Amino acid sequence: MRLNELERRLEKVAGFTSPSTRLEQYQTPAPLAARLLYHAALKGDIGGRRVGDLGCGTGILAIGAALIGAREVVGVDADETVLSIARENAERSGVEVTFLPGRIGDPGVSSSIGPCDTVVMNPPFGAQNVHADRPFIDTSLEIAPRVYGIFNAGSRQFVESYIAERGCVEEVIGGLLSIRRTFSFHTRDVREIAVEIMVISRKVA
Ligand code: SAH
Repeated sequence: MRLNELERRLEKVAGFTSPSTRLEQYQTPAPLAARLLYHAALKGDIGGRRVGDLGCGTGILAIGAALIGAREVVGVDADETVLSIARENAERSGVEVTFLPGRIGDPGVSSSIGPCDTVVMNPPFGAQNVHADRPFIDTSLEIAPRVYGIFNAGSRQFVESYIAERGCVEEVIGGLLSIRRTFSFHTRDVREIAVEIMVISRKVA
């Protein structure tokens, strides 16, 4: 599937109906999701792989991974109500994805997801709860040797020092995330946030 075809399919994935501020629920825009997935696919990390999506929300990254040939995809989110939207999205897209309720950071969550070849994720940036992104980084490296994550622009240094002995940032791709007015504290109708797709590889112990 070509990049623009993937993007077109992902445009059809329904977003959050009543997004929670506390959980930082923003859907990844289709062009950014497609870019992350396509890049991972070119690196050989999607086709035939077992892929995990941490904080999957309504499932855009998980569904995209399945659309471009992942062998098995598991999406996890703390909010059960969004998982029912994710399940409908997968069905409408004609792919099979397992969506599990779970809070990243809780003990036992890594084993309920199981080992993956690749993690894709757009975790909370920690704008509402400081360090909300940390358990996502920890869990991703526990379960997979390769991680493709979306972070605030300028996070590379933090991520690199945070993962230190556990992994290294292989590559950083800049992108923009356009956010439509979602929450009352947003002052503009559309805001563009500079983000970075980071490709992280786990270090072999
Ligand atoms: N990955 C989706 C959603 C991004 S928004 C997409 O790309 O569109 C971040 C998601 O993380 C939300 O769905 C929110 O419910 C979920 N989330 C926030 N904290 C979480 C936690 N500790 N454990 C699991 N999910 C969490």
